[in-house]
Amino acid sequence: MTRLSYLHEPGVLDNLAVRYAKNIIYTYTGNILIAINPFQRLPNLVDARTMEKYKGANLGDLDPHVFAIADVSYRQMINEGKSNSILVSGESGAGKTETTKLLMGYLAYLGGRSGTGERTVEQQVLESNPVLEAFGNAKTVRNNNSSRFGKFVEIQFDKSGKISGAAIRTYLLERSRVCQINSPERNYHCFYFLCAAPSEDLKKYKLGDPSLFHYLNQSACIKVDGINDAEEYLATRKAMDTVGITDQEQEAIFRVVAAVLHLGNINFTKGREADSSIIKDDKSRFHLNTAGELLMCDCEKLENALIKREINTPEGVITTTVGPNSATISRDGLAKQIYSRLFDWLVNRINASIGQDPNSNKLIGVLDIYGFESFKTNSFEQLCINFTNEKLQQHFNQNVFKMEQEEYTREQINWSYIEFVDNQDVLDLIERKPGGIIALLDEACMFPKSTHETLSQKLYEKFKNHKRFTKPKLSRTAFTIQHYAGDVTYQSDQFLDKNKDYVVAEHQELLNASKCSFVSGLFPQATEENTKSSKSSIATRFKIQLHELMETLSSTEPHYIRCIKPNSVLKPGIFENTNVLQQLRCSGVLEAIRISCAGYPTRKLFHDFLHRFRVLAPEILKEKNDEKVSCQKVLDKMGLQGYQIGRTKVFLRAGQMADLDARRTEMR
Ligand code: ADP
Ligand code: MG
Repeated sequence: MTRLSYLHEPGVLDNLAVRYAKNIIYTYTGNILIAINPFQRLPNLVDARTMEKYKGANLGDLDPHVFAIADVSYRQMINEGKSNSILVSGESGAGKTETTKLLMGYLAYLGGRSGTGERTVEQQVLESNPVLEAFGNAKTVRNNNSSRFGKFVEIQFDKSGKISGAAIRTYLLERSRVCQINSPERNYHCFYFLCAAPSEDLKKYKLGDPSLFHYLNQSACIKVDGINDAEEYLATRKAMDTVGITDQEQEAIFRVVAAVLHLGNINFTKGREADSSIIKDDKSRFHLNTAGELLMCDCEKLENALIKREINTPEGVITTTVGPNSATISRDGLAKQIYSRLFDWLVNRINASIGQDPNSNKLIGVLDIYGFESFKTNSFEQLCINFTNEKLQQHFNQNVFKMEQEEYTREQINWSYIEFVDNQDVLDLIERKPGGIIALLDEACMFPKSTHETLSQKLYEKFKNHKRFTKPKLSRTAFTIQHYAGDVTYQSDQFLDKNKDYVVAEHQELLNASKCSFVSGLFPQATEENTKSSKSSIATRFKIQLHELMETLSSTEPHYIRCIKPNSVLKPGIFENTNVLQQLRCSGVLEAIRISCAGYPTRKLFHDFLHRFRVLAPEILKEKNDEKVSCQKVLDKMGLQGYQIGRTKVFLRAGQMADLDARRTEMR
């Protein structure tokens, strides 16, 4: 891209469109790799021969490719002993997860130990994908296999460059999906996989068609094109074997998954007294008992945990009842809590069985995380996601900027400071403690009387003069943040609930007492330490995780891959200009181009420069000067100003290359 004479938005877009039409999906712009989702398997693009070809090749000698980025990372790690990271971003369905899998596959190819027969680290790393996808991916409108969590995979290498360990960190699984889905989306894949299990498993878990379960039948979509649930069930089991999850554990895992489905079918109706509820009917009773059996806990206690509440008062504990609505909320809370703990367990288990290499000090991290989101209605999740992207954007800008600066220093070019949009003020707005949005939200969550209205009032008051914060005119509960990628208006209605992460004491007690050690293990007895962490809010915990991630990233040499979704119909061959342009903006690619345009976007080695422009001044070339002197003379003759001549390259200002090209054409 940077070799283009015209480095501006239409030029960039046109270049990508022309390449995409030829099935060339990868393009470099400076150090960034742009990857456009082909929505089809392209022959010879990612096969073993291609891997072989990219191994050890210089970046730029071959066509742009994800393998080239992985290869550079690996060489840098081996040769300079430096950790590297590859940051893959883009909107949902842009191809992040597929790209990540290609990167991991290539790194396994470079650093794997072939033919040991046993379960190797790299096999386990690769097989962790299907397991995590079964439990953390779902069909959405944007992507049939959408990851509903962020992921950072850290691959550790030993002295000889072989993979010696790995760790997977995940971020913010979308919990609401467990209980609530909209047509035509689906719940997490594992529910459907399990409902398509062999009949003996179905009998054991008392399952049947997905349409029988409330958590699944809220959406009309049960089947997904291209996903065979029955086959995937077996494949998931097999992948679980590979990552070292025992048969016994697998049995318990699916028992818990089934229990969640049965929980969702427990309905309540008004009891005799005011604000009380009872189990609605025999069918609900059946599901209650089944859920209890599967979780191996006392069914009566399960019932009580849903329809009763113990309240601590100065006079002692009193038990009250709750109405059908509250009981349903309690039921869903329990289901979400169980599911998210199951997911965390899987991640921990995978990490434990892959194993960490304590002696490795070199790693390659691959980040697959949700891109900037701006929907019709945006809630708490979007705030967290966009907060993440602000953080990554800052990291990205600083690095692009730094790399530019380094090139100028290397070439001994005078270069005055170029301004780029710094987003520290947005980050402060969100995360500053005390006084940022997250801090105010946490505060509101501690007061029983807070509502989203009082929270919003507080935000309005506090940030009425903040440049990046506005109150939409007609709303009393929404607020707008000016993100680097555009304005996003957030609806605060569910912020309080979504931020709270405490487990209802009755639920905790119930499951901790389960006769199944797997289930009770998901709800360990409260200790000093885990009460502290469970007391912190979702937003604060996420903020801490993010902080750790940024620390890790800043100790590595970063590489950026920007995935682009060429159209919203998820079909090959269609390139929607406006849509792509918007993504280029959100991903910071255009900003990076702007930064480089503000300096000297075109650089040419002396030799290349002379070769290209010799027609402009054939007499100068005849003089047989030093190449550097000749370049100077050619540029002087053309009357250009503001350019610079470095140690090995000519540095031109934006547009100067185009200018010279035009004159060259005239001469011919
Ligand atoms: P994201 O993780 O960004 O949400 P995915 O990686 O899941 O997106 O990609 C969405 C879908 O697009 C995939 O299921 C696949 O069908 C298609 N796809 C993405 N990248 C590629 C690729 N490199 N080759 C072929 N198909 C791809
Ligand atoms: Mg994904």
